[in-house]
Amino acid sequence: VGEVYWTAGFWAETARLVREQTLPAMLEALNDPENGAYLGNFKAVAEGRKEFHATNWSDGDCYKFVEALTHAYGVTRDPATLELMDEIIAIMAAAQEPDGYINTQITATGRQRWVDQRNHEFYNLGHLFTAAAAHFRTTGRRNFLDVALKAAECAHGVFSSKPSALAHYEFNPSNIMGLVDLYEATGDRRLLDLAAVFVDLRGSAPGGLGDQNQDRIPLREETEAVGHAVTATYLYSGAADVYMHTGEAALLRALEAIWDDATRRKLYLTGGVGALHFGMSERSPNDTESERLWEAFGRPYQLPNASAYNETCANIGQAMWARRMLQITGEAKYADVMERVLYNAGLSAISLAGTEFTYTNPLRWHGHDHSRDGELKNDAPQRWSRFSCYCCPPQVARTYAGLHRWAYAVSEDTVWVHLYGGSNVRTELAGGIFAFEMTTDYPWDGKVVIDVTEAPAAPIEFRLRIPGWVAGATLVVNGDALPEPPAAGSYYRLRRHWQVGDRIELSIPIAVTLVQGHPRVEEIVNQAAVVRGPLVYCLEDHDLPEGVKIEEVHLAPGLPLELASSELSGARKIRGTAIRIARSEAGELYSALIGTTPEQIPVEFVPYYAWNNRGITEMSVWLPVAHLA
Ligand SMILES: [Zn+2]
Repeated sequence: VGEVYWTAGFWAETARLVREQTLPAMLEALNDPENGAYLGNFKAVAEGRKEFHATNWSDGDCYKFVEALTHAYGVTRDPATLELMDEIIAIMAAAQEPDGYINTQITATGRQRWVDQRNHEFYNLGHLFTAAAAHFRTTGRRNFLDVALKAAECAHGVFSSKPSALAHYEFNPSNIMGLVDLYEATGDRRLLDLAAVFVDLRGSAPGGLGDQNQDRIPLREETEAVGHAVTATYLYSGAADVYMHTGEAALLRALEAIWDDATRRKLYLTGGVGALHFGMSERSPNDTESERLWEAFGRPYQLPNASAYNETCANIGQAMWARRMLQITGEAKYADVMERVLYNAGLSAISLAGTEFTYTNPLRWHGHDHSRDGELKNDAPQRWSRFSCYCCPPQVARTYAGLHRWAYAVSEDTVWVHLYGGSNVRTELAGGIFAFEMTTDYPWDGKVVIDVTEAPAAPIEFRLRIPGWVAGATLVVNGDALPEPPAAGSYYRLRRHWQVGDRIELSIPIAVTLVQGHPRVEEIVNQAAVVRGPLVYCLEDHDLPEGVKIEEVHLAPGLPLELASSELSGARKIRGTAIRIARSEAGELYSALIGTTPEQIPVEFVPYYAWNNRGITEMSVWLPVAHLA
């Protein structure tokens, strides 16, 4: 905070959109008692009214909104934002009970504390902890932090002894990350210890929700990504946070094994996670109610397109987990997944206008038919501004408002470049102050220029991320090409005594490619997707020639596809040629296959993140492949 600022380009524009459009629209939604998250609950409790609206996790979504405001304030230092936060925080503080407990759905309804995990008490508290720690670090004020610390103290009193009766209590554990955030903000070791308690409790006793809540076996013995995908990615992120301070090898081993399963067998091309709306765990001999799964990871290679759940919160959770694994290991494979989510299944959740959202993020949508056939839970044919479950909008807002904090990392005498985007950096390393400017039009163009603007006498190392999909990156320093070309999927180490005026020029070739999936992913056999650099593209029926159906469009290797000048609100299209193989059918489940002559047709693809911005649409990421004779 205060060391990195976006200046121009893709991420600068995204952050500006969130600050100027998303956050004001979100404030309106949060003041609507019909919305799934409602700020008015805090006021009702503060005034002693027994009145409650929205979901049990509404408080958490309000805290995420304050976190998003905090990141916006960290950039703009706009006094009106600070004032708005102060007002909201004062109302939140007034809803806190004398012993520190705060959860409006419990206080307003008179329900008992800590008895029903569906009440989401820890989900709410965790988002309070994280938002308050960020607010304290950004503003220097204690008004929010004090609310969080009192609430943490209250939870400490109940959970620090690891009560076995409450072993399964936690659900959707943002509290583990949040407690580590509070520990980092205050240095109070008891907060870190409490975070570790919640990692230890996982799977420590029989019962609970089993795989749905990652509760069947102890986390340290787990090798698979299972269950509710938000709960899972929050747990893995929290455990990674605990590992960063304890260095416990068993924890990292488990996280690496789970990561492999999640990303090699259960990750969508877009970076989405959580294939299933509903399912059953197959890991238990019991065929009981307790094996039910929802909003969850599927079996290995079970990655359906039209019914993909891919909740925005889970996709962002996957990116949060990737960021932590990257911070721990410095391995580029984690940055690749992080970037994949950020440009695709994370960003797709927010409209190009910044004011409407998605909850699920499928890879195929059947237009009007999709709704006629019955949408699955939380699907919607069009983006919305209010929703019965409002967890996702503040999740994307806090992520993209604060994404500058993800772009770089520092170690003792080294600056790691994780994300490319126009930015200014000024930071203090062991050797002294180091500052530079990055200029780039990434991801539309792969040229990245870094100009050193302030340098200490001591040598500094850059570690420049070379994405795994790159072929033939080149690096030039002060006009001289470096003899050893940077390898894809690694961090290139560049150590020098830097001088003011030194210039690094990195060229990352970004070309349109067709990508295929593992043969065991049944839903995409003999299909391909259009990808350009970190961006996954999709086909929408708005861009098809008259009379052509989306299922008739085939991709063929060798046909021209290139970045077009046309765009949707800055989202640049890919234009080129595809093959049409006409289908005649009257909607029967099966019919005779009749040979037709393939014809070439013009096509345009839009970035996946930009889909569903032009009315109800038919859309597909994957298309069948035809090979030209
Ligand atoms: Zn959500």
